[in-house]
Amino acid sequence: MLLSIVVPVYNEEENIGNFYQAVTTVMTGLSYEYELIYVDDGSSDVSAAILQEIAKRDERVKVILLARNFGHQLALTCGLDYAKGDAVITMDGDMQHPPALIPELVRLWESGYDVVRTIRDSTEDASWAKSFTSKYYYKLMNKMADVPILEGGSDFRLMNRNALETLKQFREHGRFLRGIVGALGYRQAELHFVAPPRFAGVSKFSVRKMIRFALDGVTAFSRVPLRAALYVGVLCGGLSFLLILHLLYVYLTGQALNGWTTIGVSILFIGGIQLVGLGIIGEYVGRIFEEVKQRPLYWVKAAINFDGECENVNLEPSRADIFIANQVAGPKEKD
Ligand code: UDP
Ligand code: MG
Repeated sequence: MLLSIVVPVYNEEENIGNFYQAVTTVMTGLSYEYELIYVDDGSSDVSAAILQEIAKRDERVKVILLARNFGHQLALTCGLDYAKGDAVITMDGDMQHPPALIPELVRLWESGYDVVRTIRDSTEDASWAKSFTSKYYYKLMNKMADVPILEGGSDFRLMNRNALETLKQFREHGRFLRGIVGALGYRQAELHFVAPPRFAGVSKFSVRKMIRFALDGVTAFSRVPLRAALYVGVLCGGLSFLLILHLLYVYLTGQALNGWTTIGVSILFIGGIQLVGLGIIGEYVGRIFEEVKQRPLYWVKAAINFDGECENVNLEPSRADIFIANQVAGPKEKD
């Protein structure tokens, strides 16, 4: 039995060594063979060089270097495509998904679950704004989405081969993996945890990335916003009808000139509603455009330690040496 652990990293030079050690310790305590697949999501720091160095010393570590930054969800997808394990665990590389929970995930898998999802009860270092928006986002999603989206859901989870093969057939670009996994069915278990603060560095999710991710979730799993535009349209239509009656009354009673406020306000109001409706439609049309192009989801610069596949890219050594000296323990060289 082989376990795969998939970790997307983007500019995590201060975290990689620590994470690697923590996972190695936990995994050697379990009686499974394992592979640790790092997907470098086009980092601009020395993450790639550190990963390559670790892979040189430890052949259980496999590294995929993406050609550029594709975002967390696509980096995860790439790792899942390469994973060979009977069960696959996905987790973040900043220690916010505690490696110490891996044995618990594995135990639930052994007891017969196909998918083990984790629920973040809280995040210790999350800003007030992030916790607040996240909480209400999930509440709203649950009202709108076609499938249940767990509040506090995260991309820290275990899937067995069967569930993974199904997931791999979902090839949409704007992906919201936790929604897709929720919709898969199979036997799913839930595990609650509290996410500790990041080990080092800052969140790699910019506000722009967060908004995009949130919209991906809504548009991929709900047509409610499209329908909302329709309902609001009907409502405004009704209101305009009343207004027309009023205008006619004003006209017939000979006070026609007084009506300009009403007209001004109604034009602005209805114009605004129309723009919102158009914006919503535009959002979905843009996503249709994105999908019909059928471009690859990601492309790879190099894959290291996958047998027979391309090895050793020439990376500038630069600052990497210092980090490697600090972070990769022991002089243990692979033969
Ligand atoms: N990440 C990635 N590509 C990105 C952004 C983030 O691969 O474009 C990785 C990041 O290195 C980390 C994980 O995704 O391992 C989660 O990101 P982060 O910790 O920044 O998100 P947060 O925990 O703040 O939501
Ligand atoms: Mg994090």
